[in-house]
Amino acid sequence: MLRAAQTTWKTDTGRQRRDNEDSAFAHAPMFVVADGMGGARAGEVASKLATEAFEQSLPGPGSPEERLAQRAREANRLIHERSRAEHERAGMGTTLTAAYLQDAQLAIAHVGDSRAYLFRDGSLGRLTKDHTLVGALVDEGKLTEEQAADHPQRSIITRALGPEASVEIDTWSYPVRAGDVLLLCSDGLTSMISDERIAEILSATEGLERAADELIRAGNEAGGRDNITVVLTRLEESGVGTGAEEQTVVGLRVPGPAASGPRAGRPARRRRHVKPLAAVLATLIVLFLIGAGGWLATRQLYFIGTNPQAMVTVYRGLPYDLPAGIRLYETFYVSGLPAQLVPADRRASVLDQHLRSQSDASALVRDLELGKVSG
Ligand code: CA
Repeated sequence: MLRAAQTTWKTDTGRQRRDNEDSAFAHAPMFVVADGMGGARAGEVASKLATEAFEQSLPGPGSPEERLAQRAREANRLIHERSRAEHERAGMGTTLTAAYLQDAQLAIAHVGDSRAYLFRDGSLGRLTKDHTLVGALVDEGKLTEEQAADHPQRSIITRALGPEASVEIDTWSYPVRAGDVLLLCSDGLTSMISDERIAEILSATEGLERAADELIRAGNEAGGRDNITVVLTRLEESGVGTGAEEQTVVGLRVPGPAASGPRAGRPARRRRHVKPLAAVLATLIVLFLIGAGGWLATRQLYFIGTNPQAMVTVYRGLPYDLPAGIRLYETFYVSGLPAQLVPADRRASVLDQHLRSQSDASALVRDLELGKVSG
Protein backbone atom coordinates (compact mmCIF):
# COMPACT_ATOMS: atom_id res chain seq x y z
CA MET A 1 0.00 0.00 0.00
CA LEU A 2 1.20 3.46 -0.89
CA ARG A 3 0.52 6.69 0.88
CA ALA A 4 1.47 10.31 0.44
CA ALA A 5 4.46 10.79 2.72
CA GLN A 6 4.60 14.51 2.24
CA THR A 7 2.46 17.04 0.38
CA THR A 8 2.74 20.73 -0.29
CA TRP A 9 1.16 23.27 -2.55
CA LYS A 10 1.99 26.85 -3.37
CA THR A 11 0.57 29.50 -5.61
CA ASP A 12 1.97 32.79 -6.78
CA THR A 13 0.41 35.65 -8.72
CA GLY A 14 3.48 35.93 -10.93
CA ARG A 15 5.07 39.15 -12.09
CA GLN A 16 2.56 40.52 -14.55
CA ARG A 17 -0.94 39.69 -13.39
CA ARG A 18 -2.72 41.65 -10.72
CA ASP A 19 -4.97 38.84 -9.52
CA ASN A 20 -4.41 35.18 -8.93
CA GLU A 21 -7.12 33.12 -10.61
CA ASP A 22 -5.53 29.74 -9.83
CA SER A 23 -6.82 27.48 -7.06
CA ALA A 24 -5.47 24.28 -5.58
CA PHE A 25 -6.38 21.64 -3.06
CA ALA A 26 -3.94 19.07 -1.72
CA HIS A 27 -4.94 16.69 1.01
CA ALA A 28 -4.07 13.05 0.41
CA PRO A 29 -5.43 11.11 -1.33
CA MET A 30 -6.81 14.05 -3.40
CA PHE A 31 -4.73 16.59 -5.30
CA VAL A 32 -6.24 19.30 -7.50
CA VAL A 33 -5.13 22.31 -9.55
CA ALA A 34 -7.57 24.65 -11.34
CA ASP A 35 -6.73 27.71 -13.43
CA GLY A 36 -9.68 30.03 -13.89
CA MET A 37 -10.55 32.44 -16.67
CA GLY A 38 -13.14 35.16 -17.10
CA GLY A 39 -13.28 38.90 -16.49
CA ALA A 40 -14.03 40.72 -13.25
CA ARG A 41 -12.28 38.04 -11.19
CA ALA A 42 -14.80 35.44 -12.37
CA GLY A 43 -11.87 33.10 -13.06
CA GLU A 44 -11.08 33.10 -9.39
CA VAL A 45 -14.64 32.07 -8.61
CA ALA A 46 -14.63 29.33 -11.25
CA SER A 47 -11.35 27.77 -10.13
CA LYS A 48 -12.41 27.94 -6.48
CA LEU A 49 -15.73 26.23 -7.24
CA ALA A 50 -13.81 23.50 -9.06
CA THR A 51 -11.32 22.78 -6.27
CA GLU A 52 -13.98 23.01 -3.57
CA ALA A 53 -15.98 20.32 -5.34
CA PHE A 54 -13.08 17.95 -4.68
CA GLU A 55 -12.73 18.72 -1.00
CA GLN A 56 -15.50 16.30 -0.11
CA SER A 57 -15.08 12.57 -0.58
CA LEU A 58 -15.78 11.27 -4.06
CA PRO A 59 -19.24 10.09 -5.04
CA GLY A 60 -19.60 6.35 -5.42
CA PRO A 61 -19.85 3.66 -6.59
CA GLY A 62 -17.47 3.07 -9.50
CA SER A 63 -13.78 3.12 -10.28
CA PRO A 64 -11.70 6.07 -9.06
CA GLU A 65 -11.63 7.37 -12.65
CA GLU A 66 -15.41 7.25 -12.95
CA ARG A 67 -15.88 8.86 -9.56
CA LEU A 68 -13.43 11.65 -10.37
CA ALA A 69 -15.15 12.27 -13.70
CA GLN A 70 -18.54 12.38 -12.01
CA ARG A 71 -17.32 14.97 -9.53
CA ALA A 72 -15.77 16.98 -12.37
CA ARG A 73 -19.09 16.97 -14.23
CA GLU A 74 -20.83 18.18 -11.08
CA ALA A 75 -18.27 20.98 -10.78
CA ASN A 76 -18.91 21.87 -14.42
CA ARG A 77 -22.63 22.10 -13.81
CA LEU A 78 -22.11 24.23 -10.71
CA ILE A 79 -19.84 26.70 -12.49
CA HIS A 80 -22.05 26.82 -15.56
CA GLU A 81 -25.20 27.50 -13.53
CA ARG A 82 -23.44 30.18 -11.55
CA SER A 83 -22.19 31.86 -14.72
CA ARG A 84 -25.73 31.93 -16.07
CA ALA A 85 -27.24 33.23 -12.85
CA GLU A 86 -24.73 36.03 -12.34
CA HIS A 87 -24.33 38.45 -15.18
CA GLU A 88 -20.82 39.54 -14.24
CA ARG A 89 -19.67 35.92 -14.23
CA ALA A 90 -21.01 35.08 -17.68
CA GLY A 91 -18.75 32.73 -19.61
CA MET A 92 -16.38 32.01 -16.74
CA GLY A 93 -14.46 28.75 -16.81
CA THR A 94 -11.54 26.86 -15.40
CA THR A 95 -9.10 24.12 -16.16
CA LEU A 96 -9.09 21.11 -13.87
CA THR A 97 -6.42 18.55 -13.17
CA ALA A 98 -7.38 16.24 -10.30
CA ALA A 99 -5.42 13.21 -9.11
CA TYR A 100 -6.61 10.59 -6.65
CA LEU A 101 -4.35 8.01 -5.03
CA GLN A 102 -5.84 4.62 -4.26
CA ASP A 103 -3.66 1.61 -3.47
CA ALA A 104 -0.83 1.71 -5.99
CA GLN A 105 -2.84 3.55 -8.64
CA LEU A 106 -3.10 7.20 -9.43
CA ALA A 107 -6.37 8.14 -11.16
CA ILE A 108 -6.47 11.45 -13.01
CA ALA A 109 -9.32 13.55 -14.35
CA HIS A 110 -8.32 16.36 -16.64
CA VAL A 111 -9.72 19.26 -18.66
CA GLY A 112 -7.68 22.14 -20.10
CA ASP A 113 -3.97 22.96 -19.99
CA SER A 114 -2.92 22.50 -16.39
CA ARG A 115 -0.69 19.46 -16.13
CA ALA A 116 0.17 16.40 -14.07
CA TYR A 117 3.70 14.96 -14.07
CA LEU A 118 5.31 12.01 -12.37
CA PHE A 119 8.93 12.40 -11.30
CA ARG A 120 10.58 9.00 -10.95
CA ASP A 121 14.22 7.99 -10.76
CA GLY A 122 15.35 11.42 -11.83
CA SER A 123 13.16 11.74 -14.90
CA LEU A 124 9.92 13.56 -15.47
CA GLY A 125 6.98 12.03 -17.34
CA ARG A 126 3.88 13.96 -18.31
CA LEU A 127 0.59 12.27 -17.37
CA THR A 128 -1.88 14.63 -19.05
CA LYS A 129 -2.51 15.97 -22.51
CA ASP A 130 -3.21 19.68 -22.99
CA HIS A 131 -6.60 20.56 -24.40
CA THR A 132 -5.24 23.43 -26.43
CA LEU A 133 -5.38 24.57 -29.99
CA VAL A 134 -1.66 23.98 -30.42
CA GLY A 135 -1.98 20.61 -28.65
CA ALA A 136 -4.44 19.52 -31.33
CA LEU A 137 -2.07 20.73 -34.05
CA VAL A 138 0.76 18.71 -32.46
CA ASP A 139 -1.50 15.63 -32.45
CA GLU A 140 -2.20 16.16 -36.14
CA GLY A 141 1.53 16.44 -36.83
CA LYS A 142 1.20 20.06 -37.96
CA LEU A 143 3.40 21.42 -35.17
CA THR A 144 6.29 19.98 -33.20
CA GLU A 145 6.29 20.12 -29.38
CA GLU A 146 9.00 22.78 -29.62
CA GLN A 147 7.00 24.92 -32.04
CA ALA A 148 3.94 24.52 -29.82
CA ALA A 149 5.85 25.71 -26.76
CA ASP A 150 6.64 29.02 -28.48
CA HIS A 151 3.38 29.43 -30.37
CA PRO A 152 1.65 32.78 -29.80
CA GLN A 153 -1.73 31.06 -29.46
CA ARG A 154 -0.47 28.38 -27.09
CA SER A 155 -2.70 29.48 -24.23
CA ILE A 156 -5.97 29.05 -26.12
CA ILE A 157 -7.69 26.07 -24.57
CA THR A 158 -10.31 24.01 -26.32
CA ARG A 159 -11.97 22.56 -23.25
CA ALA A 160 -12.79 23.95 -19.80
CA LEU A 161 -15.18 23.48 -16.92
CA GLY A 162 -17.99 26.00 -16.93
CA PRO A 163 -18.52 27.52 -20.39
CA GLU A 164 -20.82 24.72 -21.60
CA ALA A 165 -23.62 22.80 -19.93
CA SER A 166 -21.69 19.57 -20.40
CA VAL A 167 -18.01 18.80 -20.78
CA GLU A 168 -15.89 15.86 -21.82
CA ILE A 169 -13.50 14.78 -19.06
CA ASP A 170 -10.33 12.82 -19.87
CA THR A 171 -9.36 10.21 -17.29
CA TRP A 172 -6.38 7.92 -16.92
CA SER A 173 -4.90 5.62 -14.30
CA TYR A 174 -1.20 5.07 -13.69
CA PRO A 175 0.57 2.56 -11.51
CA VAL A 176 2.75 4.38 -9.00
CA ARG A 177 5.37 3.27 -6.50
CA ALA A 178 7.27 4.39 -3.46
CA GLY A 179 9.60 7.31 -4.16
CA ASP A 180 7.46 8.74 -6.96
CA VAL A 181 6.76 12.46 -6.80
CA LEU A 182 3.52 13.76 -8.30
CA LEU A 183 3.54 17.32 -9.62
CA LEU A 184 0.37 19.17 -10.62
CA CYS A 185 0.78 22.68 -11.99
CA SER A 186 -0.95 25.45 -13.88
CA ASP A 187 0.35 26.65 -17.25
CA GLY A 188 1.93 29.64 -15.51
CA LEU A 189 4.77 27.23 -14.73
CA THR A 190 4.95 25.21 -17.95
CA SER A 191 4.59 28.19 -20.28
CA MET A 192 7.62 29.74 -18.58
CA ILE A 193 10.02 26.84 -18.07
CA SER A 194 10.64 23.59 -19.94
CA ASP A 195 10.03 20.06 -18.69
CA GLU A 196 13.80 19.61 -18.60
CA ARG A 197 14.18 22.59 -16.29
CA ILE A 198 11.40 21.26 -14.03
CA ALA A 199 13.17 17.88 -13.83
CA GLU A 200 16.45 19.63 -13.07
CA ILE A 201 14.91 21.56 -10.20
CA LEU A 202 13.20 18.49 -8.76
CA SER A 203 16.47 16.55 -8.96
CA ALA A 204 18.58 19.24 -7.39
CA THR A 205 16.32 20.42 -4.57
CA GLU A 206 16.06 19.00 -1.09
CA GLY A 207 12.51 18.69 0.22
CA LEU A 208 9.12 19.38 -1.33
CA GLU A 209 8.64 22.81 0.23
CA ARG A 210 11.87 24.09 -1.23
CA ALA A 211 11.19 22.38 -4.55
CA ALA A 212 7.84 24.18 -4.80
CA ASP A 213 9.52 27.50 -3.98
CA GLU A 214 12.23 26.85 -6.54
CA LEU A 215 9.74 26.00 -9.30
CA ILE A 216 7.83 29.21 -8.67
CA ARG A 217 11.03 31.22 -8.49
CA ALA A 218 12.19 29.78 -11.83
CA GLY A 219 8.81 30.57 -13.43
CA ASN A 220 9.02 34.14 -12.21
CA GLU A 221 12.63 34.51 -13.27
CA ALA A 222 11.65 33.42 -16.76
CA GLY A 223 9.09 36.23 -16.88
CA GLY A 224 6.26 35.22 -14.53
CA ARG A 225 3.68 36.18 -17.14
CA ASP A 226 0.89 34.22 -15.45
CA ASN A 227 -0.21 32.87 -12.09
CA ILE A 228 1.92 29.90 -11.05
CA THR A 229 0.56 27.06 -8.95
CA VAL A 230 2.29 23.82 -7.99
CA VAL A 231 1.13 20.83 -5.97
CA LEU A 232 3.79 18.30 -4.98
CA THR A 233 3.37 15.01 -3.19
CA ARG A 234 5.83 12.21 -2.55
CA LEU A 235 4.70 8.62 -2.20
CA GLU A 236 6.05 5.98 0.13
CA GLU A 237 5.06 2.56 1.40
CA SER A 238 2.59 2.94 4.23
CA GLY A 239 3.54 1.38 7.53
CA VAL A 240 7.06 2.74 7.26
CA GLY A 241 8.26 3.53 10.78
CA THR A 242 9.23 7.02 11.85
CA GLY A 243 12.95 6.32 11.68
CA ALA A 244 12.74 5.16 8.10
CA GLU A 245 10.38 8.02 7.32
CA GLU A 246 13.01 10.55 8.23
CA GLN A 247 15.35 8.79 5.88
CA THR A 248 12.94 8.91 2.99
CA VAL A 249 11.85 12.50 3.57
CA VAL A 250 15.25 13.51 2.30
CA GLY A 251 14.68 15.70 -0.70
CA LEU A 252 13.64 14.64 -4.11
CA ARG A 253 17.01 13.32 -5.11
CA VAL A 254 17.13 9.85 -6.45
CA PRO A 255 17.99 7.80 -3.40
CA GLY A 256 21.58 6.74 -3.74
CA PRO A 257 24.36 5.61 -1.44
CA ALA A 258 24.75 9.18 -0.17
CA ALA A 259 21.05 9.78 0.51
CA SER A 260 21.61 11.19 3.95
CA GLY A 261 21.31 14.93 3.45
CA PRO A 262 19.52 17.27 5.80
CA ARG A 263 15.94 16.43 6.67
CA ALA A 264 13.19 18.15 4.81
CA GLY A 265 12.08 21.30 6.58
CA ARG A 266 8.52 21.80 7.60
CA PRO A 267 5.95 19.01 7.76
CA ALA A 268 3.36 18.69 5.04
CA ARG A 269 0.75 21.41 4.97
CA ARG A 270 -2.45 19.69 5.96
CA ARG A 271 -5.84 20.86 4.91
CA ARG A 272 -7.39 20.08 8.27
CA HIS A 273 -5.25 22.82 9.76
CA VAL A 274 -6.17 25.25 7.08
CA LYS A 275 -9.92 24.87 7.22
CA PRO A 276 -10.73 26.20 10.72
CA LEU A 277 -8.30 29.00 10.01
CA ALA A 278 -10.21 29.87 6.84
CA ALA A 279 -13.44 30.04 8.83
CA VAL A 280 -11.87 32.33 11.41
CA LEU A 281 -10.43 34.47 8.64
CA ALA A 282 -13.79 34.72 6.91
CA THR A 283 -15.41 35.87 10.14
CA LEU A 284 -12.63 38.39 10.74
CA ILE A 285 -12.95 39.72 7.22
CA VAL A 286 -16.70 40.16 7.61
CA LEU A 287 -16.23 41.90 10.94
CA PHE A 288 -13.55 44.09 9.42
CA LEU A 289 -15.86 45.00 6.55
CA ILE A 290 -18.53 46.11 8.96
CA GLY A 291 -16.11 47.92 11.24
CA ALA A 292 -14.31 49.71 8.45
CA GLY A 293 -17.40 51.16 6.94
CA GLY A 294 -17.75 48.24 4.55
CA TRP A 295 -21.34 48.18 5.65
CA LEU A 296 -21.93 50.88 3.09
CA ALA A 297 -20.53 48.58 0.42
CA THR A 298 -22.72 45.70 1.48
CA ARG A 299 -25.73 47.93 0.96
CA GLN A 300 -24.98 47.77 -2.74
CA LEU A 301 -25.53 44.00 -2.63
CA TYR A 302 -28.90 42.35 -2.94
CA PHE A 303 -30.23 38.83 -2.88
CA ILE A 304 -33.57 37.13 -3.19
CA GLY A 305 -35.00 34.86 -0.51
CA THR A 306 -38.22 34.34 1.36
CA ASN A 307 -39.43 36.22 4.41
CA PRO A 308 -40.96 34.53 7.50
CA GLN A 309 -44.34 34.55 5.71
CA ALA A 310 -42.75 32.62 2.81
CA MET A 311 -43.18 35.56 0.42
CA VAL A 312 -40.51 36.15 -2.21
CA THR A 313 -38.42 39.00 -0.84
CA VAL A 314 -35.51 41.12 -2.03
CA TYR A 315 -32.94 41.72 0.70
CA ARG A 316 -30.17 44.26 0.79
CA GLY A 317 -26.83 43.09 2.20
CA LEU A 318 -25.16 39.73 2.53
CA PRO A 319 -27.09 36.51 3.28
CA TYR A 320 -25.33 35.79 6.59
CA ASP A 321 -26.26 35.75 10.25
CA LEU A 322 -23.31 36.30 12.55
CA PRO A 323 -23.20 35.02 16.12
CA ALA A 324 -25.00 37.21 18.68
CA GLY A 325 -27.89 37.73 16.30
CA ILE A 326 -26.10 40.18 14.00
CA ARG A 327 -27.66 40.17 10.56
CA LEU A 328 -25.82 41.41 7.52
CA TYR A 329 -29.01 42.11 5.57
CA GLU A 330 -32.29 43.96 5.72
CA THR A 331 -35.58 43.69 3.88
CA PHE A 332 -35.62 45.80 0.71
CA TYR A 333 -38.84 44.75 -1.01
CA VAL A 334 -41.51 42.19 -0.17
CA SER A 335 -43.21 40.94 -3.30
CA GLY A 336 -46.83 39.87 -3.56
CA LEU A 337 -45.70 36.41 -4.56
CA PRO A 338 -45.73 33.39 -2.24
CA ALA A 339 -42.57 31.30 -2.77
CA GLN A 340 -44.66 28.24 -3.56
CA LEU A 341 -46.04 29.93 -6.68
CA VAL A 342 -42.54 30.22 -8.17
CA PRO A 343 -42.29 27.45 -10.78
CA ALA A 344 -40.83 24.44 -8.96
CA ASP A 345 -37.85 23.99 -11.28
CA ARG A 346 -36.86 27.64 -10.91
CA ARG A 347 -37.39 27.88 -7.17
CA ALA A 348 -33.91 26.74 -6.18
CA SER A 349 -32.10 29.01 -8.63
CA VAL A 350 -34.23 32.06 -7.84
CA LEU A 351 -34.28 31.73 -4.05
CA ASP A 352 -30.69 30.55 -3.62
CA GLN A 353 -29.58 33.90 -2.12
CA HIS A 354 -26.96 34.50 -4.83
CA LEU A 355 -25.73 38.06 -4.72
CA ARG A 356 -27.25 40.24 -7.42
CA SER A 357 -27.34 43.90 -8.28
CA GLN A 358 -30.42 45.79 -7.18
CA SER A 359 -31.67 46.07 -10.74
CA ASP A 360 -31.17 42.34 -11.43
CA ALA A 361 -32.89 41.32 -8.23
CA SER A 362 -35.77 43.76 -8.74
CA ALA A 363 -36.24 42.85 -12.42
CA LEU A 364 -36.29 39.14 -11.64
CA VAL A 365 -38.86 39.54 -8.87
CA ARG A 366 -40.97 41.81 -11.08
CA ASP A 367 -40.94 39.19 -13.84
CA LEU A 368 -41.91 36.54 -11.31
CA GLU A 369 -44.82 38.68 -10.10
CA LEU A 370 -45.95 39.16 -13.68
CA GLY A 371 -45.72 35.41 -14.28
CA LYS A 372 -43.04 35.90 -16.95
CA VAL A 373 -40.67 33.33 -15.46
CA SER A 374 -42.22 30.07 -16.50
CA GLY A 375 -41.15 26.56 -15.65
CA1 CA B 1 -2.98 30.30 -16.44
